[in-house]
Amino acid sequence: MTEKKPFWETKKLFEMTNGEWESLCDGCAKCCLNKLEDADTGYISYTNVACHQLDIESCKCRNYSDRETYVPDCIKLTVSKLESLSWLPRTCAYRLLYEQKTLYPWHPLISGDKESVEKSGISVKGRIISENNNIDLEEHIVDWPNE
Ligand code: SF4
Ligand code: SF4
Repeated sequence: MTEKKPFWETKKLFEMTNGEWESLCDGCAKCCLNKLEDADTGYISYTNVACHQLDIESCKCRNYSDRETYVPDCIKLTVSKLESLSWLPRTCAYRLLYEQKTLYPWHPLISGDKESVEKSGISVKGRIISENNNIDLEEHIVDWPNE
């Protein structure tokens, strides 16, 4: 008997249900970190400073369903936006599938373990601080593994 392929291997991103789309997020929280763009080169640097709405203990957004109210420039990912989101982490499932790559073995949809993102060092959990007005982002630029 042939095994049924999972939805992320058979469906295009725009064909996915809302539940399937949301399940692609591995919760790494890298997209919730402040980033700095070099005005001359366009190069994007990551920092270890998270959006004030991110609970840095759980690495979850405190108001995910209403996030645009709390953070107007929070980008709600859609298929049409992926083309212009080159700053998304290389490990992000949305970026991987958009680039017709496969998910990594540590992705919870494959591992079946929600903790595998943290265990594999992909999650930023435990390594970030929350933003506030006193933070100079230039002093918090970091190189995350796999980026
Ligand atoms: S970078 Fe991608 S996988 Fe990670 S939290 Fe953001 S949307 Fe989810
Ligand atoms: S509002 Fe929530 S989802 Fe948006 S960047 Fe902030 S923590 Fe992340």
